[in-house]
Amino acid sequence: MNPSETKMPVVFVGHGSPMNALLDTPFSKEWKRIGATLPKPKAILAVSAHWVSDGTKVNEAKKPHQSYDMIGFPEELYAHRYRPEGSPALAKEIVDRLGKSASATTSWGIDHGVWVVLSWMYPKADIPVVEMSIGRHLSLAGHYELAKKLSFLRNEGVLILLSGNIVHNLSLVSWDMANGYSWADAFDAWVKEKVLARQDAALFSYRHAGRFADKAFQTEEHFIPLLYALGASEGASIEVFNDRRTMGALSMTGYLFR
Ligand code: ZN
Repeated sequence: MNPSETKMPVVFVGHGSPMNALLDTPFSKEWKRIGATLPKPKAILAVSAHWVSDGTKVNEAKKPHQSYDMIGFPEELYAHRYRPEGSPALAKEIVDRLGKSASATTSWGIDHGVWVVLSWMYPKADIPVVEMSIGRHLSLAGHYELAKKLSFLRNEGVLILLSGNIVHNLSLVSWDMANGYSWADAFDAWVKEKVLARQDAALFSYRHAGRFADKAFQTEEHFIPLLYALGASEGASIEVFNDRRTMGALSMTGYLFR
């Protein structure tokens, strides 16, 4: 087989509400479609907005626990099971490649930023998942450079999955609102323009995007996974999916790089 046919994609997903794990929505339909159409990976490296740590951590557990890291949702969400195997060998390979800035741990499980999406992409949970944290010591450019060091995994059958939300301002969320505020649309559109033009470095200084950038999020952890997607996907073609805002202040936009 031609090596270019086996190179695995990089996927950035806007995960939105944890309830998307259970609800058959236009968003979850797209995640399901993407999982069904991509070549089946040997393993998944996942970075979620919900694991921020001192230093970059890599989960080396053989059986990572499922972390229900959200509060105030219906019982049925806490009964939802998504329990793939881990891959200690892949975790070791990642830590070795990153050098002393990274370390292995078993203290974190697979959080909802990952299992909400994978429940639709790979519902059988039959692909090993290694989750890696967002190290709070790194700058935006630092996250991007770290991801570049891991792009080789795409040639080893590893799907790189990044889960966040490009617009994520919980203080301005309107639960009953179907679409987004105009400032949310404007910021998401600005980001999309930069992503599609591969002006990656422009995203390190997103505050220059305009006044709407100040509202897009209060903290950067849901935005940062996009930088991992860009860093790991040099030379890839880009497909935009779920290009929508919801609840006023959440972007569901995703990018498939392959
Ligand atoms: Zn989240």
